[in-house]
Amino acid sequence: MRRVFSGNPASPGMALGKVRLERPARFSIDNSPLPDSEVDTEIARLERAFAVAREDMAELRRKLHGALAREVGEFIDAHALLLDDPELIEGLRAMIRKGHYRAAAALNAQRDRLVAVFDNMDDPYLRSRGEDVDHVIARVQSALARQASSEEKKLATRVGEILVTESIAPGELAHMASHGILAVVAGSGSPYSHSAILARSLHLPMLVNVEGVLEDLRDGDLALVDGVHGEVVVHPTAQDLAQYRNWQRETLREGQRLAQLARSETRTRDGHKLRLFANAERPEDIERARNLGVAGIGLYRTEFLFLAQSGLPSEDEQFAAYRDVVLGAGGLPVTIRTLDLGADKADAAGLVMAKEPNPALGVRGVRLSLRQPDVFVTQLRAVLRASCYGPLRILVPMISNAAEMIDVRRLLEACARDLRTAGHEIPDQFELGAMVEVPAAAINVRALLHVADFVAIGSNDLTQYVLAADRNNDQLGKLYEPAHPAVLGLLAHVIVHARRAHKPVCLCGEIAGDPAFAPVLVALGLEDFSMLPDRILAQRDALARCDRKALRAVAPRLLRARDSDEIAALIGSVHAPG
Ligand code: PEP
Ligand code: MG
Repeated sequence: MRRVFSGNPASPGMALGKVRLERPARFSIDNSPLPDSEVDTEIARLERAFAVAREDMAELRRKLHGALAREVGEFIDAHALLLDDPELIEGLRAMIRKGHYRAAAALNAQRDRLVAVFDNMDDPYLRSRGEDVDHVIARVQSALARQASSEEKKLATRVGEILVTESIAPGELAHMASHGILAVVAGSGSPYSHSAILARSLHLPMLVNVEGVLEDLRDGDLALVDGVHGEVVVHPTAQDLAQYRNWQRETLREGQRLAQLARSETRTRDGHKLRLFANAERPEDIERARNLGVAGIGLYRTEFLFLAQSGLPSEDEQFAAYRDVVLGAGGLPVTIRTLDLGADKADAAGLVMAKEPNPALGVRGVRLSLRQPDVFVTQLRAVLRASCYGPLRILVPMISNAAEMIDVRRLLEACARDLRTAGHEIPDQFELGAMVEVPAAAINVRALLHVADFVAIGSNDLTQYVLAADRNNDQLGKLYEPAHPAVLGLLAHVIVHARRAHKPVCLCGEIAGDPAFAPVLVALGLEDFSMLPDRILAQRDALARCDRKALRAVAPRLLRARDSDEIAALIGSVHAPG
């Protein structure tokens, strides 16, 4: 019998397929007891994982020279010692043999125990060593995960299904997408979450916050997902299917209309030239973006590389990916953002292991990178090597003060020197930019502009931090509001100061590609927008309807507005959406 479930649209499009109920648990730890017959194999897996982790560290050690070797080397040596610690390894073996733990569960339990021991130490230095334990065990977990599991093999047959799940982390989504799922329906979540952004980038229709689906649907039910209106129709009727075909036809027609804009410039109605850049996560996105006439890649999120596979990508793997992006961009500038793991993006590679009470306010983005210099250096080296192939800029996420930028630049320069010594042709200059997404960075942007070559505003996070509204929490509803005057005031502040400092400023949060925000952003003086390739044409169309002169004239009043309704009314007084 036909049934309809409603939720919030998180990624547009429609999909027709069979339901598969699941809470993907690929990276959750299996705590079930290990059968006797598997003990020896499990110990062998654990030992193999230790050996791989040791080899990873040794390889990194071999690659470092000069100042970098001194700085990061000490850290690597401490980790290598832990990896060789006979007590740790013997303890784990005993847990598997006697306690019937699985290797990953034993590692987790040991980590928690050891971290607790360090946490209770009086000496602050010793206390902080608990982090090393955490990192080392994460490395072994990651090596363990790289040994293909039977679960992974089972997933391979699941092409053409609609995943129905309570919630989904970006890593899991990336993995499921690569196995051919058609759409995602989640019981909770928000359209501003990283999973939702990823789904949009993968063209995977997605609904979040859909009540009752997990209880009421069965595996194999036929379902029609409507990512535009936020509905799932189970056992669709002939009429629903006709609507689906209509949607397919209309999408094609609208696509053809917008396609005519693909090669044109972006100009406002009164002729002011703007630049549209693409947000991308995979090398494949680049060609699409280029065909849409973008000015470059404004944000290349590197998390995908870390989330799509188990284990950390090596320097060579990362280099190949970044080089392909630069080559694919065909001479257009590419902005590669360094790893922004942490918070909700934790994490296939096992990097973010500590349970943080407030992950969004915790060790994410540059904070994580600076605490794990071995992982960071690997990435910086890969990016620098790729920069020989075309114009490349480096962007650092979650910057909250100028000192972090100075630390990153120091590491980057050391990496460049190191690579040159090893015979790589590294350009003399590289542009290093800061994401402005922490309120402190926005308020104090002048300090940041002294140490950054450019800034990119991350309005997704800036909104959540300014309004203290978790971007992933569907319960907050309209409280997460990028059009709030406080958020727009900060955007204007950053744009003005970057302009005065003669440094490029781009906006790369979701609102940059939202036609409803086009007039507001033009009013605030924004000229560089970065968005998912899918949004480029519709946004070019929307910007072409904006009269920049008239919109700029209402900017002072916009900034004094009491609420978003007043902002909408002011915009409405000088702009008709068309
Ligand atoms: C942002 O915060 O606006 C942003 C572009 O970064 P992300 O969505 O990846 O956090
Ligand atoms: Mg962000």
